[in-house]
Amino acid sequence: MTVHDLVASSDRKSVYVCYTGGTIGMQKSRRGYIPEPGFLDEQMNAISVLQGRRMPRWVIHEFEPILDSSNMTPSDWIKVGEDIFTHYDDYDGFIVLHGTDTMSYTASALSFMLRGLRKPVVFTGSQIPLVEVRNDARENLITSLLLAAESRIPEVILYVGDTLLRGNRSTKVSAERFHAFESPNYPPLGHAGVDLQIYRDRLLHLPSEPLQLDRVGGARVADIRLYPGITPDLVRQFLAPPIDGAVMHTYGLGNAPDDPDFLAALREASDRGVVVVNCTQCLEGSVDMEGYATGSGLLDAGVLSGYDMTPEAALTKLYWLLSLRLPRTEVVRLMQTNVRGELTEPA
Ligand code: ASP
Repeated sequence: MTVHDLVASSDRKSVYVCYTGGTIGMQKSRRGYIPEPGFLDEQMNAISVLQGRRMPRWVIHEFEPILDSSNMTPSDWIKVGEDIFTHYDDYDGFIVLHGTDTMSYTASALSFMLRGLRKPVVFTGSQIPLVEVRNDARENLITSLLLAAESRIPEVILYVGDTLLRGNRSTKVSAERFHAFESPNYPPLGHAGVDLQIYRDRLLHLPSEPLQLDRVGGARVADIRLYPGITPDLVRQFLAPPIDGAVMHTYGLGNAPDDPDFLAALREASDRGVVVVNCTQCLEGSVDMEGYATGSGLLDAGVLSGYDMTPEAALTKLYWLLSLRLPRTEVVRLMQTNVRGELTEPA
């Protein structure tokens, strides 16, 4: 852990940086980019503008081990949540440095796990490591530090490549572009151009409750993508015990085959208590299971609407709600209710 500029004036904000891994701090190896302990801190110390008086003071906490985000699991979400929770009172804002591959999952999970959040938690990373001459890491870092020092952002946000998004509305859309994320069903919360603009009317309201951390653990969640040719038996296997919940990626408005055996496989799972949530494979738009006969069969089989949630938000929300050990009726209700700005309830 490194504390920078301890002699800074008292009005400077302070930001806590959780460094979980990702390309941003990686170094080239013979097998491609790999996370390298201590390397990012060294790099950041060498950038004089990051120590300047116009920047907030920052502290970096490097996780052990630092990971490519493809290796992250729900237990890593808990580690991030605990780190923020432990240091919450001592800092004005938080940054989570994270690989871009699963960043939307962790950002969504944290939005649910951190109840009563009144300070910014900014997820960022990069497509090219900070150590490379041409990179997107430097700008992402500088702007994220400024955003984390902004007092009136009471939510988990994601900043990668000039756009600020709600974490649980974001999804990675490009493996190459610096502008790697979109928020197809909710407008951006801000843009970084000549001015750094935040659209405050799109932010969540300040919560009244104190911060609380809900740990996700013990729930077994599956993710099923429909495709032409998927069989009822395969669906049965996906939803077999010990699965507690699943996100089902359906077609268009939320449609699936209306083959009676396919629907019976879903009905059997929901009768066992499995919570199945319908998210569309389309990037944009909302599920409406009453739009077509192929959708209303799902309703009858006990499948819930995920409305316009991203699959990342739906999956992490399921982990969260199922870990809270609530009665099933409450899980069903909350799954279809907007709790952190993650879905648009139908009028
Ligand atoms: N594979 C990397 C990761 O997610 C990609 C990145 O950081 O952009 O950790």
